[in-house]
Amino acid sequence: MSDILVRAISTDGFVKATAVVTTELTERARQIHKTLPVGTAALGRALSAASMMGNALKGEGNSLTLQFKGGGPLGTVLAVSDAEGNVRGYVTNPGVDIPLREDGKLDVGSAVGFDGTLTVIKDLGMKEPYVGTIDLLGGEIAEDVAAYFVESEQIPSACGLGVLVDRDQSVKAAGGYLIQLLPGASEDIITMVEGGIYAAESVSAFLSHDPDPEKLLRHVMSDFDLRILETSPIEYRCYCTRDRVERALLSIGADELRQIREEQGQAELTCQFCDEVYHFSAEDLEALENAAKKN
Ligand SMILES: [Zn+2]
Repeated sequence: MSDILVRAISTDGFVKATAVVTTELTERARQIHKTLPVGTAALGRALSAASMMGNALKGEGNSLTLQFKGGGPLGTVLAVSDAEGNVRGYVTNPGVDIPLREDGKLDVGSAVGFDGTLTVIKDLGMKEPYVGTIDLLGGEIAEDVAAYFVESEQIPSACGLGVLVDRDQSVKAAGGYLIQLLPGASEDIITMVEGGIYAAESVSAFLSHDPDPEKLLRHVMSDFDLRILETSPIEYRCYCTRDRVERALLSIGADELRQIREEQGQAELTCQFCDEVYHFSAEDLEALENAAKKN
C-alpha cells in the first residue's frame, strides 16, 4: 500500500484533522541516508509532520521546512514538504546509535536533544518566507510540533507521530496525525479530543496492524463524526536539478571553482536530500568559472 494523506473536518465544524501513512517514504529516506533506527525514527516523524503541515499550505510552488536543532548527537533534523505533502529531508549524523529507553523504545528525544529550537519556514512565494521559532520541549518531535502551533500560531493542536523499525532496520510502519481546533470550539470539544487521544493506541502500534490513515483518524477521533475532505497519495520527492546544483556552484565564486578544477580536475556533487549525483568535468567547471566572473 502506498503512502497516503487524509484531511478531514468534524461535522460539527469545530475540529480539523489530518493523518498520514508514511511507511514507504520513510523507508526511502532510510535507504538514501543509511540512517540507523533512532535516526530513522526522528527523520520519519519529522517527515510525517512536515507532510501534514505542507499539505495545509496549498498553492503551487509553496513549501514548508521543519528544522530541529536540539543539540543532540543526530545534529540537525530537517524535513521539507511541498504544498501537496510530498517530502524530503535529512539528519546531519545518520549513523548515530544510542541506547534504548528504559521502556524499550527508541530514544528519539535524547538523539535529537532538547536544548535548542524548532524553526518552521513557510515559503509562500512572497518576497520573504514566514519564519517561526520556538524552544524545543523534548525533542520527541510530535510535542514540539504541537507546541509550535500553540505558541507561534495560537492554534490549539495535538500531534501524534510514530515510526516502527523492524528487526532488519527497515521501516515497518510510519505515520501520524495532526488535530487542530477551529474558532469557537468549546471546553467540551477539547475534552472530547483529549479523551480520544488518551484512549487511542499509539500511532505506530495502530499502523502496524492497519496501515490506513483514515482509520487512524477515526480511531483517534472516535467521539466525532468526520467528513473526509481529501485523500491524496504522497511520496518522497526531491526537486533537485542540474540547474540548481550549477547555481549553487556559481555562488561559491570563480576563485573557489578554479581551485576545485586545479586540485581535483572535476567535481561530483551528491544532493543532500536524495541519492542523485551530479558530475562536473574540468570543462564544465571552467565554463562555470567564466560565468561566475561575469556575475
Ligand atoms: Zn535531490
